[in-house]
Amino acid sequence: MVETPVILDGRALAREVRDGLKVRVDALKAQGVNPRLEAVVAAQDPASLAYVEMKKKWAGWVGIESGTFMVDDSVSESAVMEQVAKLNADSAVHGVLIQHPLPGHIDEDRVLESLGHAKDVDGITSASLGRLTAGLPGFRCATPLGITKLLDRYGVQCEGKSALVIGRSNILGKPMALMLLERNATVTVAHSRTKDLPELCRTMDIVVAAVGRAEMVKGDWLKPGAVVIDAGYNKVEGRAHDVGDCDYDSCSEVASAITPVPGGVGPMTVASLLMNTVDAAEATLV
Ligand code: NAP
Repeated sequence: MVETPVILDGRALAREVRDGLKVRVDALKAQGVNPRLEAVVAAQDPASLAYVEMKKKWAGWVGIESGTFMVDDSVSESAVMEQVAKLNADSAVHGVLIQHPLPGHIDEDRVLESLGHAKDVDGITSASLGRLTAGLPGFRCATPLGITKLLDRYGVQCEGKSALVIGRSNILGKPMALMLLERNATVTVAHSRTKDLPELCRTMDIVVAAVGRAEMVKGDWLKPGAVVIDAGYNKVEGRAHDVGDCDYDSCSEVASAITPVPGGVGPMTVASLLMNTVDAAEATLV
Protein backbone atom coordinates (compact mmCIF):
# COMPACT_ATOMS: atom_id res chain seq x y z
CA MET A 1 0.00 0.00 0.00
CA VAL A 2 1.44 3.37 -1.03
CA GLU A 3 1.36 5.95 1.77
CA THR A 4 2.55 9.44 0.91
CA PRO A 5 3.46 10.12 -2.71
CA VAL A 6 6.60 11.97 -3.67
CA ILE A 7 5.59 15.45 -4.81
CA LEU A 8 7.32 16.22 -8.09
CA ASP A 9 7.98 19.85 -7.32
CA GLY A 10 8.25 21.76 -10.60
CA ARG A 11 8.55 25.09 -8.88
CA ALA A 12 11.66 24.01 -6.96
CA LEU A 13 13.24 22.35 -9.99
CA ALA A 14 12.51 25.39 -12.18
CA ARG A 15 14.34 27.51 -9.59
CA GLU A 16 17.38 25.19 -9.80
CA VAL A 17 17.26 25.25 -13.60
CA ARG A 18 17.12 29.06 -13.65
CA ASP A 19 20.08 29.31 -11.27
CA GLY A 20 22.10 27.12 -13.63
CA LEU A 21 20.98 29.12 -16.67
CA LYS A 22 22.00 32.40 -15.04
CA VAL A 23 25.58 31.11 -14.75
CA ARG A 24 25.57 29.99 -18.39
CA VAL A 25 24.13 33.34 -19.55
CA ASP A 26 26.84 35.23 -17.62
CA ALA A 27 29.46 33.08 -19.35
CA LEU A 28 27.89 33.80 -22.74
CA LYS A 29 27.88 37.53 -22.06
CA ALA A 30 31.53 37.39 -21.08
CA GLN A 31 32.14 36.00 -24.57
CA GLY A 32 30.12 38.76 -26.23
CA VAL A 33 26.89 36.81 -26.81
CA ASN A 34 23.70 38.32 -25.36
CA PRO A 35 20.99 35.65 -25.46
CA ARG A 36 17.78 37.04 -26.91
CA LEU A 37 14.24 35.67 -27.08
CA GLU A 38 11.56 37.32 -29.24
CA ALA A 39 7.85 36.67 -28.93
CA VAL A 40 5.05 37.07 -31.47
CA VAL A 41 1.77 37.42 -29.62
CA ALA A 42 -1.87 38.35 -30.13
CA ALA A 43 -2.31 41.85 -28.68
CA GLN A 44 -5.93 41.33 -27.70
CA ASP A 45 -5.62 38.00 -25.92
CA PRO A 46 -5.15 38.66 -22.18
CA ALA A 47 -4.17 35.04 -21.40
CA SER A 48 -1.48 35.02 -24.13
CA LEU A 49 -0.17 38.39 -22.98
CA ALA A 50 0.02 37.13 -19.40
CA TYR A 51 1.90 33.95 -20.45
CA VAL A 52 4.35 35.94 -22.55
CA GLU A 53 4.90 38.48 -19.76
CA MET A 54 5.67 35.65 -17.33
CA LYS A 55 8.11 34.05 -19.79
CA LYS A 56 9.80 37.40 -20.34
CA LYS A 57 9.99 38.02 -16.61
CA TRP A 58 11.88 34.77 -16.02
CA ALA A 59 13.96 35.32 -19.16
CA GLY A 60 15.02 38.67 -17.71
CA TRP A 61 15.80 37.04 -14.39
CA VAL A 62 18.35 34.70 -15.96
CA GLY A 63 19.73 37.55 -18.11
CA ILE A 64 18.04 36.74 -21.43
CA GLU A 65 16.94 39.87 -23.27
CA SER A 66 13.52 39.80 -24.86
CA GLY A 67 11.19 41.66 -27.17
CA THR A 68 7.59 41.32 -28.31
CA PHE A 69 5.88 41.77 -31.67
CA MET A 70 2.21 42.49 -30.99
CA VAL A 71 -0.31 41.27 -33.53
CA ASP A 72 -3.62 43.09 -33.45
CA ASP A 73 -6.45 43.25 -35.99
CA SER A 74 -4.64 45.92 -37.98
CA VAL A 75 -1.56 43.72 -38.55
CA SER A 76 -1.74 41.69 -41.77
CA GLU A 77 -0.55 38.12 -42.17
CA SER A 78 2.15 39.30 -44.57
CA ALA A 79 3.44 41.74 -41.93
CA VAL A 80 3.68 38.87 -39.42
CA MET A 81 5.45 36.68 -42.00
CA GLU A 82 7.86 39.54 -42.69
CA GLN A 83 8.56 39.93 -38.98
CA VAL A 84 9.30 36.19 -38.61
CA ALA A 85 11.58 36.34 -41.67
CA LYS A 86 13.41 39.26 -40.05
CA LEU A 87 13.81 37.35 -36.78
CA ASN A 88 15.04 34.26 -38.68
CA ALA A 89 17.73 36.39 -40.33
CA ASP A 90 18.77 38.40 -37.26
CA SER A 91 21.87 36.83 -35.72
CA ALA A 92 21.26 38.76 -32.47
CA VAL A 93 18.02 36.77 -31.95
CA HIS A 94 18.49 33.23 -30.62
CA GLY A 95 14.95 32.09 -29.97
CA VAL A 96 11.48 32.95 -31.24
CA LEU A 97 8.26 32.12 -29.45
CA ILE A 98 5.05 32.24 -31.49
CA GLN A 99 2.38 32.26 -28.82
CA HIS A 100 -0.78 30.31 -29.67
CA PRO A 101 -3.41 31.49 -30.54
CA LEU A 102 -2.66 34.29 -33.02
CA PRO A 103 -5.68 36.40 -34.09
CA GLY A 104 -8.18 34.64 -36.37
CA HIS A 105 -7.23 36.52 -39.55
CA ILE A 106 -3.71 35.03 -39.39
CA ASP A 107 -2.92 31.54 -40.70
CA GLU A 108 -1.02 30.43 -37.61
CA ASP A 109 0.32 27.23 -39.18
CA ARG A 110 1.78 29.21 -42.07
CA VAL A 111 3.50 31.61 -39.66
CA LEU A 112 4.80 28.78 -37.50
CA GLU A 113 6.14 26.85 -40.46
CA SER A 114 8.09 29.90 -41.63
CA LEU A 115 10.13 29.86 -38.41
CA GLY A 116 13.51 28.18 -38.84
CA HIS A 117 14.01 25.18 -36.54
CA ALA A 118 17.29 26.64 -35.22
CA LYS A 119 15.25 29.36 -33.45
CA ASP A 120 12.17 27.28 -32.61
CA VAL A 121 12.89 27.22 -28.87
CA ASP A 122 9.31 26.17 -28.13
CA GLY A 123 9.91 23.07 -30.29
CA ILE A 124 6.51 23.19 -31.99
CA THR A 125 7.20 23.56 -35.71
CA SER A 126 6.83 20.48 -37.89
CA ALA A 127 10.61 20.60 -38.45
CA SER A 128 11.25 20.32 -34.70
CA LEU A 129 8.59 17.64 -34.24
CA GLY A 130 9.99 15.76 -37.23
CA ARG A 131 13.47 15.87 -35.74
CA LEU A 132 12.11 14.49 -32.47
CA THR A 133 10.31 11.72 -34.36
CA ALA A 134 13.47 10.83 -36.26
CA GLY A 135 15.65 11.01 -33.14
CA LEU A 136 17.67 13.89 -34.58
CA PRO A 137 19.02 16.74 -32.45
CA GLY A 138 16.76 19.77 -32.26
CA PHE A 139 14.69 21.77 -29.81
CA ARG A 140 12.22 19.63 -27.94
CA CYS A 141 8.75 20.89 -27.19
CA ALA A 142 8.88 22.88 -23.94
CA THR A 143 6.11 21.24 -21.87
CA PRO A 144 7.05 17.59 -22.46
CA LEU A 145 10.74 18.52 -22.17
CA GLY A 146 9.99 20.03 -18.74
CA ILE A 147 8.20 16.81 -17.77
CA THR A 148 11.20 14.67 -18.72
CA LYS A 149 13.43 16.94 -16.61
CA LEU A 150 11.10 16.40 -13.64
CA LEU A 151 11.14 12.63 -14.16
CA ASP A 152 14.96 12.69 -14.29
CA ARG A 153 15.33 14.94 -11.26
CA TYR A 154 13.23 12.62 -9.13
CA GLY A 155 14.84 9.45 -10.49
CA VAL A 156 11.68 8.11 -12.13
CA GLN A 157 12.84 5.28 -14.38
CA CYS A 158 10.93 4.97 -17.64
CA GLU A 159 12.78 2.03 -19.19
CA GLY A 160 10.54 -1.00 -19.50
CA LYS A 161 7.63 0.80 -17.82
CA SER A 162 4.17 1.10 -19.30
CA ALA A 163 3.24 4.75 -19.88
CA LEU A 164 -0.09 6.21 -20.87
CA VAL A 165 -0.29 9.69 -22.37
CA ILE A 166 -3.86 10.98 -22.34
CA GLY A 167 -4.10 13.57 -25.14
CA ARG A 168 -2.53 13.73 -28.59
CA SER A 169 -1.98 17.41 -29.33
CA ASN A 170 1.07 18.44 -31.33
CA ILE A 171 2.38 20.58 -28.48
CA LEU A 172 1.94 18.09 -25.70
CA GLY A 173 0.52 14.59 -26.10
CA LYS A 174 2.35 13.49 -29.26
CA PRO A 175 5.82 14.84 -28.37
CA MET A 176 5.40 13.53 -24.81
CA ALA A 177 4.71 10.05 -26.16
CA LEU A 178 7.82 10.24 -28.36
CA MET A 179 10.01 11.44 -25.49
CA LEU A 180 8.82 8.61 -23.26
CA LEU A 181 9.52 6.20 -26.11
CA GLU A 182 13.06 7.66 -26.35
CA ARG A 183 13.37 6.73 -22.67
CA ASN A 184 12.40 3.15 -23.50
CA ALA A 185 8.95 3.20 -21.95
CA THR A 186 6.23 1.17 -23.65
CA VAL A 187 3.86 3.96 -24.62
CA THR A 188 0.12 4.09 -25.23
CA VAL A 189 -1.61 7.27 -26.38
CA ALA A 190 -5.26 7.82 -25.42
CA HIS A 191 -7.64 10.43 -26.81
CA SER A 192 -11.32 11.32 -26.94
CA ARG A 193 -12.23 8.16 -28.88
CA THR A 194 -10.36 5.75 -26.62
CA LYS A 195 -12.61 3.06 -25.13
CA ASP A 196 -12.55 2.08 -21.47
CA LEU A 197 -9.98 4.69 -20.50
CA PRO A 198 -10.17 4.11 -16.71
CA GLU A 199 -9.56 0.39 -17.23
CA LEU A 200 -6.63 1.05 -19.59
CA CYS A 201 -5.20 3.59 -17.16
CA ARG A 202 -5.28 1.06 -14.31
CA THR A 203 -2.66 -1.06 -16.12
CA MET A 204 -0.10 1.77 -16.39
CA ASP A 205 3.08 2.53 -14.42
CA ILE A 206 3.25 6.15 -15.61
CA VAL A 207 0.25 8.33 -16.52
CA VAL A 208 0.60 11.73 -18.18
CA ALA A 209 -2.67 13.66 -18.35
CA ALA A 210 -2.73 16.30 -21.10
CA VAL A 211 -6.42 16.60 -21.74
CA GLY A 212 -7.82 19.97 -20.66
CA ARG A 213 -10.65 18.48 -18.56
CA ALA A 214 -10.66 19.43 -14.93
CA GLU A 215 -9.96 16.53 -12.56
CA MET A 216 -10.91 13.86 -15.09
CA VAL A 217 -8.43 11.22 -13.90
CA LYS A 218 -9.54 9.80 -10.55
CA GLY A 219 -7.61 7.82 -7.98
CA ASP A 220 -9.55 4.67 -8.81
CA TRP A 221 -8.26 4.90 -12.41
CA LEU A 222 -4.73 4.27 -11.15
CA LYS A 223 -2.62 1.23 -10.48
CA PRO A 224 -1.25 1.48 -6.92
CA GLY A 225 2.18 3.13 -7.07
CA ALA A 226 1.66 4.75 -10.48
CA VAL A 227 3.57 7.94 -11.28
CA VAL A 228 1.11 10.71 -12.18
CA ILE A 229 2.08 13.71 -14.28
CA ASP A 230 -0.64 16.30 -14.58
CA ALA A 231 -0.07 18.78 -17.41
CA GLY A 232 -3.60 20.15 -17.21
CA TYR A 233 -4.39 23.72 -16.39
CA ASN A 234 -8.13 24.40 -16.12
CA LYS A 235 -10.07 27.37 -14.82
CA VAL A 236 -12.97 26.28 -12.65
CA GLU A 237 -15.49 28.76 -11.30
CA GLY A 238 -15.32 29.12 -7.56
CA ARG A 239 -11.83 27.61 -7.27
CA ALA A 240 -9.01 29.88 -6.14
CA HIS A 241 -6.43 28.19 -8.39
CA ASP A 242 -6.48 26.55 -11.78
CA VAL A 243 -6.92 22.80 -11.42
CA GLY A 244 -5.28 19.94 -13.24
CA ASP A 245 -6.64 17.11 -15.35
CA CYS A 246 -6.22 14.76 -12.37
CA ASP A 247 -8.20 14.76 -9.16
CA TYR A 248 -5.23 15.46 -6.91
CA ASP A 249 -6.73 14.27 -3.63
CA SER A 250 -7.88 10.85 -4.79
CA CYS A 251 -4.85 10.32 -7.09
CA SER A 252 -2.38 11.15 -4.34
CA GLU A 253 -3.87 8.36 -2.20
CA VAL A 254 -2.77 5.80 -4.82
CA ALA A 255 0.20 7.30 -6.69
CA SER A 256 3.85 6.84 -5.69
CA ALA A 257 4.70 10.25 -7.18
CA ILE A 258 2.56 13.11 -8.48
CA THR A 259 2.87 16.64 -9.82
CA PRO A 260 0.81 19.33 -8.09
CA VAL A 261 -1.21 21.93 -9.99
CA PRO A 262 -0.12 24.66 -9.79
CA GLY A 263 3.60 24.20 -9.15
CA GLY A 264 4.28 21.04 -11.16
CA VAL A 265 4.49 21.01 -14.94
CA GLY A 266 3.75 24.73 -15.52
CA PRO A 267 6.97 26.21 -14.11
CA MET A 268 9.01 23.56 -15.94
CA THR A 269 7.48 24.60 -19.27
CA VAL A 270 8.86 28.10 -18.84
CA ALA A 271 12.20 26.80 -17.56
CA SER A 272 12.49 24.54 -20.64
CA LEU A 273 11.85 27.43 -23.00
CA LEU A 274 14.67 29.36 -21.33
CA MET A 275 16.92 26.28 -21.41
CA ASN A 276 16.36 25.93 -25.16
CA THR A 277 17.07 29.65 -25.66
CA VAL A 278 20.38 29.40 -23.81
CA ASP A 279 21.26 26.25 -25.81
CA ALA A 280 20.49 28.21 -29.00
CA ALA A 281 22.74 31.08 -27.91
CA GLU A 282 25.57 28.68 -26.96
CA ALA A 283 25.27 27.03 -30.37
CA THR A 284 26.39 30.30 -31.96
CA LEU A 285 29.78 29.94 -30.25
CA VAL A 286 30.74 26.76 -32.08
P1 NAP B 1 -5.77 20.05 -26.71
O1 NAP B 1 -5.03 20.47 -27.91
O2 NAP B 1 -7.15 20.52 -26.49
O3 NAP B 1 -5.76 18.45 -26.68
C1 NAP B 1 -6.50 17.74 -25.73
C2 NAP B 1 -6.37 16.27 -26.00
O4 NAP B 1 -7.14 15.59 -25.02
C3 NAP B 1 -6.90 15.85 -27.38
O5 NAP B 1 -5.99 14.94 -27.96
C4 NAP B 1 -8.23 15.18 -27.06
O6 NAP B 1 -8.54 14.09 -27.90
C5 NAP B 1 -7.97 14.63 -25.67
N1 NAP B 1 -9.22 14.46 -24.93
C6 NAP B 1 -10.24 15.37 -24.80
N2 NAP B 1 -11.23 14.84 -24.07
C7 NAP B 1 -10.86 13.58 -23.75
C8 NAP B 1 -11.44 12.54 -23.01
N3 NAP B 1 -12.64 12.67 -22.45
N4 NAP B 1 -10.77 11.39 -22.88
C9 NAP B 1 -9.54 11.23 -23.42
N5 NAP B 1 -8.91 12.19 -24.13
C10 NAP B 1 -9.58 13.35 -24.29
O7 NAP B 1 -4.99 20.43 -25.36
P2 NAP B 1 -3.41 20.66 -25.11
O8 NAP B 1 -3.00 21.95 -25.69
O9 NAP B 1 -2.66 19.43 -25.41
O10 NAP B 1 -3.45 20.86 -23.52
C11 NAP B 1 -3.89 19.84 -22.65
C12 NAP B 1 -3.92 20.39 -21.23
O11 NAP B 1 -2.61 20.79 -20.87
C13 NAP B 1 -4.78 21.65 -21.05
O12 NAP B 1 -5.32 21.63 -19.74
C14 NAP B 1 -3.80 22.79 -21.18
O13 NAP B 1 -4.21 23.95 -20.46
C15 NAP B 1 -2.60 22.17 -20.51
N6 NAP B 1 -1.31 22.73 -20.93
C16 NAP B 1 -0.45 23.01 -19.94
C17 NAP B 1 0.79 23.52 -20.25
C18 NAP B 1 1.72 23.82 -19.13
O14 NAP B 1 2.71 24.48 -19.33
N7 NAP B 1 1.44 23.32 -17.94
C19 NAP B 1 1.17 23.76 -21.57
C20 NAP B 1 0.27 23.42 -22.57
C21 NAP B 1 -0.98 22.91 -22.25
P3 NAP B 1 -8.86 14.25 -29.49
O15 NAP B 1 -7.53 14.43 -30.14
O16 NAP B 1 -9.50 12.97 -29.85
O17 NAP B 1 -9.74 15.45 -29.60
